[in-house]
Amino acid sequence: MNKEELKKIKEKALEEHIPIIMDDTLEVIEKYLKDNKPKKMLEIGTAVGYSAICFTEFLSEEGIIDTIEREHARVIEAKENIKKAEVEGKINIYEGDAVEILPTLEGKYDAIFIDAAKGKYPFFLKEALRMLSDDGIIFADNILYKGYVLSDYNKHKQRTAVRNLREYIKETTEDERLDTKILEVGDGLAITKYAGNKI
Ligand code: SAH
Ligand code: MG
Repeated sequence: MNKEELKKIKEKALEEHIPIIMDDTLEVIEKYLKDNKPKKMLEIGTAVGYSAICFTEFLSEEGIIDTIEREHARVIEAKENIKKAEVEGKINIYEGDAVEILPTLEGKYDAIFIDAAKGKYPFFLKEALRMLSDDGIIFADNILYKGYVLSDYNKHKQRTAVRNLREYIKETTEDERLDTKILEVGDGLAITKYAGNKI
């Protein structure tokens, strides 16, 4: 991993207002990855590859991240960034809409990071649970969406997003098979595991 390049990638993304993972959110996920060394990780929402590049440092030696992005220009930039950061071979990008790509994926993932269209979170959850390994973990970013999700806010053009984020929280907290914690880091992070596996 080329840390100098990673710094540049981060700065450029911030300048261009690309919603990359926030530092405190990244810290929480990195701590988990460090302690658990996943082999296979899935990311929904690559953007320019910043978070995926960060995660590669903490996977097990032959670890790999599959990541999905629908915007062509971002896929191109992510590929360039992966080269610059010298983590080629550790990140596999699927270009297209995750709603279409997820159902075509098979196999199990030890860690899943949901960070794409908020209105699709309940669907992403369903697909993530289908592919989650028994001791795996799901992180969902932006789950509190600027505080809208836990307030009585419901009249805005973002109300579909808010409704779906609330549904994600409801499903993950009410399902007895699952344990879920919501952290107020960054824009809110939901962490879900199968019950019995300590978060
Ligand atoms: N994980 C990145 C940031 C992702 S921003 C990081 O922290 O560095 C969210 C990205 O998800 C955007 O680039 C957007 O184009 C993409 N996205 C949103 N909805 C999507 C969908 N349904 N399928 C694929 N990509 C999607
Ligand atoms: Mg995010």
